[in-house]
Amino acid sequence: MKYNRILLKLSGESLMGKQGYGIDPERLNSYARQIQEAADSGVQIGIVIGGGNIFRGLSGAAKGFDRVKGDQMGMMATVINSLALSSALEAIGQPSKVLTAIPMFPVGYPYSKWEAIKTMKEGSIAIMSCGTGSPYFTTDTGSALRAIEIEADVMLKGTRVDGVYTADPEKDPEAKKFDEITYDEVLARNLKVMDITATALCKENNMPIYVFNMDVEGNLAKMLKGEKVGTLVSN
Ligand code: UDP
Repeated sequence: MKYNRILLKLSGESLMGKQGYGIDPERLNSYARQIQEAADSGVQIGIVIGGGNIFRGLSGAAKGFDRVKGDQMGMMATVINSLALSSALEAIGQPSKVLTAIPMFPVGYPYSKWEAIKTMKEGSIAIMSCGTGSPYFTTDTGSALRAIEIEADVMLKGTRVDGVYTADPEKDPEAKKFDEITYDEVLARNLKVMDITATALCKENNMPIYVFNMDVEGNLAKMLKGEKVGTLVSN
């Protein structure tokens, strides 16, 4: 076992699968199965999910919404996704608990570092919603923050691509994949691994980021076994 405790970041966008909006049950169940498999291997798991499949504050602001209210709508979207994942996990017998950075009991339990750690030590998945709980941040930053707070060994960023490339592999066929890269290089090359705030937070706190394709079933388990399925970002 390489890791004792991980923070897994799932993007809201990936959750919509082929649908283009909302939650694709097939994708959701695939995530749930992979998470359960990882939990069965003994690793403690905290999860942060985005909300981009439902609402993003920035696109709301572009349409004339107040930015702060738009971001609050985005944070509510992460709660919707977190509840969906929790439900899918429970359906296959995997205990989980939704924690919310913005208090809204009984939808979820108020987030604290200690509640999250207690949840994970009990063998339950801690799903930490609302990102950071503040506007003008992203769930990437929320997951960097939570990974550091809960003392995770690594922050896993599950995406649609299988790692960090020299350019966007969905647009540039010449793009090459890195097995390992430093935070400084990510920032200097302006690579779109995570936003600058999230990357800087991980760099300052020495939180390694592992970027991999979570949409390929089995990848999470492979990564945890030490197979090179993605890119490691560290100092
Ligand atoms: N958001 C926020 N503060 C946070 C995290 C998220 O205000 O700490 C809002 C923001 O509007 C963002 C939306 O929630 O656009 C959805 O999150 P994100 O875009 O990070 O989701 P993803 O791209 O991972 O699906």
